[in-house]
Amino acid sequence: MKNIAVIGAGTMGNGIAHTFAQFDYKVHLIDIQQAYLDKGMATITKNLDRMVTKESISEADKERTLNNIITYTNLEEGVKNVGLVVEAATENVDLKLNIFRDLDKFCGPDTILSSNTSSISITQIAAVTSRPEKVIGMHFMNPVPIMKLVEIIKGYSTSSETYETVETLSKNLNKVPVEVNDYPGFVANRILMPMINEAIETLYNGVAGVKEIDTVMRLGMAHPMGPLALADFIGLDVCLSILNVMYDGFKNPKYAPCPLLVNMVMAGKLGSKSGEGFYDYSENRKAEVVSAQFTK
Ligand code: NAD
Repeated sequence: MKNIAVIGAGTMGNGIAHTFAQFDYKVHLIDIQQAYLDKGMATITKNLDRMVTKESISEADKERTLNNIITYTNLEEGVKNVGLVVEAATENVDLKLNIFRDLDKFCGPDTILSSNTSSISITQIAAVTSRPEKVIGMHFMNPVPIMKLVEIIKGYSTSSETYETVETLSKNLNKVPVEVNDYPGFVANRILMPMINEAIETLYNGVAGVKEIDTVMRLGMAHPMGPLALADFIGLDVCLSILNVMYDGFKNPKYAPCPLLVNMVMAGKLGSKSGEGFYDYSENRKAEVVSAQFTK
């Protein structure tokens, strides 16, 4: 399996393409507009430049990695002759189901179809294809070229053969695969999101401020980032959508998103990508705490 298609050139897609290409897979990177592909390639180039500066790769490695990626705006052309597809498009159920219906039509019968979804059911995605045994979750972590974990999610019908192929591929990328069954939030987000939600609830209840909560978790629990800074990094809309998937999936109020998180998303405060979340990321106020309106 040398040819891989990656769907979506955003935060995760460009990292996944970068990683496969660095390990000498031929990557077909697909997005809906050339501008998104150009932006993704610019990010890959910038990240490779940083690796060259740090001397973790050579200039020749950088060139080889970039030459291993071809971009496409046409899905049917992009997935021709690939052994694996990694879908990393926007986190939206209907969008993903449509992409997998198309993939099932356009890909050869042996192609494995994987999704990098943070929370959507792999079993539900697999059910719209005629090959549910070849559909699997490949949940990479952000930033993909650096983070070692790949949560591999087995849907209800995923075959052992598909699992083993994807496990081997992950090891070839120098990642550590972990086998997980398909239930809402899988493992990573089922544990992480309630912690983030509780940190927001703690702020909402006026127990402590943004900096104080993050400092407790960084210095007290040795977390590299505080939960509120991490929520900003992940995207508050993404956190909200994952909590809602778990809330709906388990029908358990412990996953109910904090009203402050809901309000912030409605107000367009999505974290670093929108310039403001719990911190202010605008040019002259890099990651300064935003505090006034938080508590009840
Ligand atoms: P993003 O918004 O940065 O990128 C999504 C990309 O998908 C965009 O470039 C968009 O143009 C493209 N896209 C949308 N519809 C498409 C289509 N029909 N065909 C091809 N491309 C299409 O999102 P992201 O943060 O990279 O998230 C992608 C996936 O990875 C989601 O399922 C998300 O849940 C998951 N994920 C995200 C993170 C994270 O930290 N951001 C971590 C793990 C998993």
